[in-house]
Amino acid sequence: MSNSLLINAAELLRRPGSERKFALEPTIAELGIVDSRFDPDATVSVDLRLESLTDGIVVDGQLRAPWADSCRRCLAPALGEVVCDVDELYQHVVTAPDAFEIVGDQIDLARMVRENLLLDAPLAPLCRPDCAGLCPTCGIDLNTATCDCDSEVVDPRWEALSQLKVNLPEQ
Ligand SMILES: [Zn+2]
Ligand SMILES: [Zn+2]
Repeated sequence: MSNSLLINAAELLRRPGSERKFALEPTIAELGIVDSRFDPDATVSVDLRLESLTDGIVVDGQLRAPWADSCRRCLAPALGEVVCDVDELYQHVVTAPDAFEIVGDQIDLARMVRENLLLDAPLAPLCRPDCAGLCPTCGIDLNTATCDCDSEVVDPRWEALSQLKVNLPEQ
């Protein structure tokens, strides 16, 4: 894992109210992210501002990372970018919920960046917002073709009734 994501915050902690900016470009692999939606070699843009308080350091800014997956409707490649606005707190003694720990005056950004990117990565990606998907009957890609399948959605209650009719013995 890259050491560039381990920030020495001693200087900041000595002077509450002071701030520093960080622009880093670690790769997904350097962040320790193992997830099929993220290419290990892809570059993550980490743009953060660290501001010291009397009881910790606020880290805010933006993370951006490209993701790639299969469209949930048509299975074609789906691509996009995760953009997270972060606002996190680091403390020596963690008292706030969801705060990260400052260990030996060091701030480890990797875990925070990892958690935010994984949380914001899409769970049901689409190749485009209005993707028409595949025909449930013949499987044709309705974005590029049409089919003659009866696409009428059958209400399961009517389906049960028609089954009943079929099963009635003929007089
Ligand atoms: Zn699609
Ligand atoms: Zn069809």
